[in-house]
Amino acid sequence: MPSTASPVVDTRRRGLRDLRISVTDRCNFRCIYCMPKEVFGPDYQFLPHAELLTFEEIVRLAKIFHDHGVEKIRLTGGEPLLRKGIETLIEMLATALPGVALTLTTNGSALKSKARALKNAGLTRITVSLDSLDDTIFKAMNAVNFPVGKVLDGIDAAVEAGLAPVKINMVVKRGVNDTQIVDMARYFKGSGNIVRFIEFMDVGTTNGWKMDHVIPSADVVRAIDDVFPCEPAHANYFGEVAKRWRYKDGSGEFGVISSVTEAFCGSCTRARLSSDGTMYTCLFASQGRDLKSLLRGGASDKEVRDAVAAIWRYREDRYSEIRTSETAKARKVEMSFIGG
Ligand code: SAM
Repeated sequence: MPSTASPVVDTRRRGLRDLRISVTDRCNFRCIYCMPKEVFGPDYQFLPHAELLTFEEIVRLAKIFHDHGVEKIRLTGGEPLLRKGIETLIEMLATALPGVALTLTTNGSALKSKARALKNAGLTRITVSLDSLDDTIFKAMNAVNFPVGKVLDGIDAAVEAGLAPVKINMVVKRGVNDTQIVDMARYFKGSGNIVRFIEFMDVGTTNGWKMDHVIPSADVVRAIDDVFPCEPAHANYFGEVAKRWRYKDGSGEFGVISSVTEAFCGSCTRARLSSDGTMYTCLFASQGRDLKSLLRGGASDKEVRDAVAAIWRYREDRYSEIRTSETAKARKVEMSFIGG
C-alpha cells in the first residue's frame, strides 16, 4: 500500500523505514544481560495498563509512520506474547496496512501454543531469542529456570505454522555462553532457519556492560569457519542489520550483528515506540518524545504526522559510532522498555 505523505529523512539523510513497537514492558524471563532480576525484582514497578497504548492507538500511529515511509513493523517488548490479545493487534495491523511486513521478536516461551494463531492473524515473520542449547547455561541466562526444550518446540511450531525461515537471535556474552557458538551453528545448519550472533551491547544501565564481555563478531565467524567453512554473502537489502555468512557446503547461512565492533548507524532507518507511546530514534537514547499525550489530547492525524516528521528530521543519532567506555556509563533507556 503506497504511503500518502512524502518520506522524511533525518540530518544524515537516513529515511524512516522500520518501526519497532514495544507492546509491553513486562517479561517472564530475567535475562542477565537485559532484565537482571536484582533490578527487575518483585517490587519493580512496571507500567500500569492504562499507560500502555491501546491497540487502536498503536494502529493509528503505525499508519502515520507508514505515511512517512515505514514498510516494516516489528512487535517486541518486554515479551510481546504476554500482551493479551496480541493476535488481535496483529490482525488489526495486517488489515490496516496490507503489504507492510509484520514481524515479531519473542523469547519463544509461549510460541508452541501461539504460532498458528500468529500466522493466521497475518504475521509475516518471527525472530526467536535463544542464547544456548545447553539447558544449564540457558536456565542460568534466563534466570527463571526456563528449559531450552520448550523454546525449541516453539521454533518447530513456528516452522510448521508457515513462519519459516525463523530467525534465531543469540546474544553472545564472554565467559557465559561463548562455548555455545559452534553448537548453535551446527544445530540450525541445514534447517532453513537462520541464527544471528549478536554482540552484547551497552543498552540501558542495569546490565553491567563492559567491553571485555563482548565477543567480536569476527571471532564468532572465525570459530564457525574453523569447523564449517563459510564465506560472506550479499545483504538482502540496504540497511540489513545482520551481515550474512553462507556455509560453503550449501547448507544455509548465519548472520552476525556487530553493533559494538562495526557500527551501522549510517544505514539505521529504525524508529522505536515504547509501550507507553514514547518515540525513540536510537536504541541507545536517553530520552524520547511523548506521542501518547498528543493522541489522548485530541490531536488530528495531521498534527501527529507533523510531530513525527519533525522528530525524525532533527535526528542526529549515531551512538554506536561514538561509543566509548564513558558513553557506555551514561543513562540510557532500558532495552526491555524501548523494545529490542
Ligand atoms: N522478549 C523478547 C525476546 O526475548 O526476544 C523481545 C524483547 S528482547 C529485549 C529483544 C532482543 O534484545 C532479544 O533478542 C535479546 O536477546 C536482545 N537483547 C537484550 N539485551 C541485549 C543486550 N544487552 N545486548 C544485545 N542484545 C540484547
